[in-house]
Amino acid sequence: MSDRYLSFANSATGRRVVSALGLPAPLRLERWTAGRNRPVDGAILLSSGPMSKVISGFANKLSDQIFANEEGSFDLPRWTAEHSPKLKALVFDASELTRFEQLGALREFFQPAFKGLGSCPHVVVIGRPPQSIKDPVAASVQRSLEGFTRSLGKEIRRGGTVQLLYVGKGGETQLEGALRFFLSPKSAYVSGQVLHLGACSAEVKDWTRPLTGKTALVTGASRGIGAAIVETLARDGADVVLLDVPAMQDDLEALAARLGGRSIALDICAENAAQMLLEALPEGLDILVHNAGITRDKTLAKMSDGFWNSVINVNVNAPLALTQALLDANKLHEEARLVLISSISGIAGNMGQTNYATSKAGVIGVTQSMAPVLGKQNISINAVAPGFIETQMTAAIPLTLREAGRRMNSMGQGGLPQDVAEAVAWFAQPTSGAVTGQVLRVCGQSLLGA
Ligand code: NAP
Repeated sequence: MSDRYLSFANSATGRRVVSALGLPAPLRLERWTAGRNRPVDGAILLSSGPMSKVISGFANKLSDQIFANEEGSFDLPRWTAEHSPKLKALVFDASELTRFEQLGALREFFQPAFKGLGSCPHVVVIGRPPQSIKDPVAASVQRSLEGFTRSLGKEIRRGGTVQLLYVGKGGETQLEGALRFFLSPKSAYVSGQVLHLGACSAEVKDWTRPLTGKTALVTGASRGIGAAIVETLARDGADVVLLDVPAMQDDLEALAARLGGRSIALDICAENAAQMLLEALPEGLDILVHNAGITRDKTLAKMSDGFWNSVINVNVNAPLALTQALLDANKLHEEARLVLISSISGIAGNMGQTNYATSKAGVIGVTQSMAPVLGKQNISINAVAPGFIETQMTAAIPLTLREAGRRMNSMGQGGLPQDVAEAVAWFAQPTSGAVTGQVLRVCGQSLLGA
């Protein structure tokens, strides 16, 4: 589904009309393209601090233009708005802030830097998890970073993103994998998010194909977000197995053939689904993505049994049952990565979607409740909660609701299936074991449920 207003606002005539009438002007977001290697295509600005010191050790793998905001920091050149290149990525290390008076350092760092932003810049603020800090004032100072980053996400404009990473004990070693995602166009439609990084001993040997040697199953893979996920996992080196309903078998097989993968035509709610899946995957899995999902919208007053049950079954019951069957049969390898697709409806609720929102909140429940259990086998489980993504599912929404869904976020536009796929591919990486039991919204910082 194309966004005609976005295309118009980015055309030569459209830019003039939009500016003359004072209309919102969403920018076409920069996205990752095949063949690209450097996560950051431009200058990175680092603040001082212990986390920035860690980052300065690998920053030359992210970009060849690294600057510090203070003279002599990490032997890097000092960045000034007047004499240095425009900024594509900014990292502020707030991990050592313990008093409210020190928070002014955020203003001192970002105020000049925001005068030198390039297009589609990516900002990451790094803190310490408040719950890991005994001193109540220091913990509150770290908690206050959430309000700052979420507000900055609403102010940055130019297609920019802002995230907060709370780095726990041992999480420093996994900053590279996280920044390769959050400072690059792979996170084009992710903003205002707060994530916790913990310890993880896994490594990525080749960042151009971080999933090499891994086998990944994606459900609902014949079209939309699922098809984008398998494309992206295959791009990153995974052997992909595509699953969808038997009615989609032709499309499924065609896509599997193009990606050099295998296909399984199966209804995940079928009575013998677990048995069929186990038979189709004798060698087990490293990556499991529960993407298949349906909507059957009605207000609760008009909701039929069929609508209610089918949505709960496809969206949460079947993924839970299949995951359990794979675990019971020891088919999920040590350090496996599980990703479930939720929705911001599961966070914010939505008119006419009691069934869908219930199922998608249930998906978050599965993620959070299974994480500690799976952690014992170094298996991570996370949820991605998309906002408005341009697919067949959202093309079916009536026009006025569709336009509202598209525009009510900091980016003023809908996301693409690729945006969800990039988030899934990041969670699927070996080093992303540093993150588990968490929900990442891919929603352009939607106002819903914020
Ligand atoms: P989609 O285009 O409808 O694709 C979903 C695929 O899953 C379809 O091929 C569908 O087959 C398949 N599927 C449905 N039930 C199945 C079953 N029982 N067994 C196996 N496969 C089944 O959906 P999408 O927009 O790409 O969404 C993908 C996921 O993202 C869903 O979980 C959805 O809830 C979630 N999501 C989407 C958005 C959005 O804006 N698009 C926003 C938030 C969350 P059929 O042809 O039978 O339907």
